[in-house]
Amino acid sequence: QWIYLNGSYVQKENAMISVYDHGFLYGDGIFEGIRIYNGNIFKCKEHLDRLYDSAKSIMLDIPLAYEEMKSVLIETVRKNELRDGYIRLVVSRGPGDLGLDPRRSPKANVVIIVEQLAIYPEEAYLNGLKTVSVSTRRNIPDALNPKIKSLNYLNNILVKIQANLAGVGEAIMLNSQGFVAEGSSDNIFIIKRGIVFTPPCYCGALEGITRAAIIEICQKIGIPCKEEPFTLHDVYVADEVFFTGTAAEVIAVREVDARTIGEGKAGPITTRLLKEFRAVVEVDGAK
Ligand code: PMP
Repeated sequence: QWIYLNGSYVQKENAMISVYDHGFLYGDGIFEGIRIYNGNIFKCKEHLDRLYDSAKSIMLDIPLAYEEMKSVLIETVRKNELRDGYIRLVVSRGPGDLGLDPRRSPKANVVIIVEQLAIYPEEAYLNGLKTVSVSTRRNIPDALNPKIKSLNYLNNILVKIQANLAGVGEAIMLNSQGFVAEGSSDNIFIIKRGIVFTPPCYCGALEGITRAAIIEICQKIGIPCKEEPFTLHDVYVADEVFFTGTAAEVIAVREVDARTIGEGKAGPITTRLLKEFRAVVEVDGAK
């Protein structure tokens, strides 16, 4: 397994960075999770756009130009000879001193890891997941703007811990006003009377690439889709609920906080959207 590390390709056991890296000391950095389908990088432009936007927002200088980064991504995938997998691209502030000042970390670390992906079993896509809402809130100060995909994932990890304690794979996080934000690492959608809803980013949702793909598919096939705030009540009484994410794709939810959703399995619109999404992946992956 070849890992890209600051211009070199190294084996996993040799892929090391300094303990003075501010990604390690302070969570100061950004990342992307990207899928490889049929040997191609899915939504490469969208992921790189989000990465460079996140970098600009936190004044992090990525030492590779956009096109260079794209070539390096392609080369890392090629070297690992994976037809289907997952890419983790991390840019951290780089090594500095023990103070916060990013001016003392002049050289960012760039790491690209390519791996096989352990996703949900196919059964979960048919039967849906059980999920719960958790007490951890998505707080939205400037520096943790949900649009910045930063290395500050403590909130998300607290959600994951609560999900683990409840024995479920993903959980629902609200924002401080009580509106639904997202999961620990997935966006959320609900469907009511044929209309698809997902929280707007100002409610605390990451601008997910899979989320955007689903919104686009809805437009294409004529299913109304709205970005609107909603509450847990709306989730409980929805006809269908699903999560989206690079790793999870489109995964139905059959139960939320012990309330059965719809028929208690993947509903017809969710099933249709998963099918359409997989068709997009086939076509884009084959380019
Ligand atoms: N929300 C959070 C907090 C995430 O980390 C992710 C990425 N796994 C998502 C939503 C889904 O985004 P995407 O579809 O771009 O993977």
